[in-house]
Amino acid sequence: MNALVFIEYKDNKIKKSSLECLSAVKGDSHTIQTCAIGAGSDQLTAALGAWGVTKHYSCTDVDTYNPELYKNFVAKVIEQTKPDVIVATSNNVGRDIFPRVAAQFSMAYMSDITEVEMDSDLEVKRPLYAGKCTAQVTFTDDSGKILLLRPNQISVVEASESVTTENIAIAAGAPSGQSETLSVEKGESEKLDLTEAETIVSGGRGLKEAENFKLLHDLAAPLNATVGASRAVVDLGWVPHSLQVGQTGKTVAPSLYFAIGISGAIQHLAGMSGSKNVVAINKDEKAPIFQKSTYGLVGDLFEIVPVLTEKLKSL
Ligand SMILES: Cc1cc2nc3c(=O)[nH]c(=O)nc-3n(C[C@H](O)[C@H](O)[C@H](O)COP(=O)(O)OP(=O)(O)OC[C@H]3O[C@@H](n4cnc5c(N)ncnc54)[C@H](O)[C@@H]3O)c2cc1C
Repeated sequence: MNALVFIEYKDNKIKKSSLECLSAVKGDSHTIQTCAIGAGSDQLTAALGAWGVTKHYSCTDVDTYNPELYKNFVAKVIEQTKPDVIVATSNNVGRDIFPRVAAQFSMAYMSDITEVEMDSDLEVKRPLYAGKCTAQVTFTDDSGKILLLRPNQISVVEASESVTTENIAIAAGAPSGQSETLSVEKGESEKLDLTEAETIVSGGRGLKEAENFKLLHDLAAPLNATVGASRAVVDLGWVPHSLQVGQTGKTVAPSLYFAIGISGAIQHLAGMSGSKNVVAINKDEKAPIFQKSTYGLVGDLFEIVPVLTEKLKSL
């Protein structure tokens, strides 16, 4: 199988979510080629060699995010590589670009994939109805397929090949003018985006007021965690919507998720039920969140959280 992986990176380092994409396609019978866009996208070849990537397509002349230019770049790479399958991360960028690519090339498109079987007939799994059931999908025609993988679902395998990766530069070309990026504003947090975070500390209405979110930031610091929130506190204006976890917020799947002063409404669970371990802190022992938690602490968060923070700081 000829696979093309769309690589995302930060500070010249391939993001973990892209390593998960590479892990999903790594196998003896697959040829892996990669592409990346933005300043420094041509500097990734040394790291990609370990994954057995022979050709890497880069585009360095785009410095501001523009879905049209990104799509044009990917389209040019597809024309050169003719992949059977394209793999990228199921995040805002992936979900913005790849439906456009799928439409242009009449390819099958699937996002939010949590499991992928590349060896036999291509088969993927993705949750439906806010995680209440799982769809098992195979592809019946021979057109190319675009698979977007949810972060933190596929284990990163060891990359130990020593292939020389050729960098092939592609020019982005001029935008057609159908859309224009007016400005790009950085999110609140300097930490990892919620969708990629390994550890998340989320807070809800139990925190009583916006200022008390400081307690969560203090707890997040020794854990190197990203702070999230329930919709109730976003609606109250305590934190921006970019922090919201749930059906109308972000879908997250960290290794460790703290739900602090969050009741566990179905719409919140929809966004975090893929978490591997959940620690719930709530003073109501009947709160639904405890049914989803690995560890439950019944008590007052204002007493528990500072003690937990001090303990973690001392480790
Ligand atoms: C269409 C739709 C979409 C929605 N989308 C989302 C979504 O994406 N994300 C989302 O989160 N919600 C979403 N909601 C809202 C959801 O239904 C709940 O209203 C919301 O999740 C509740 O937030 P909460 O748990 O912070 O607040 P509450 O339900 O008020 O819970 C607060 C909790 O804090 C506990 N508590 C209070 N004081 C303390 C204390 N001192 N110590 C410990 N615990 C304490 C209480 O026991 C309680 O369990 C959506 C709703 C609708 C209708």
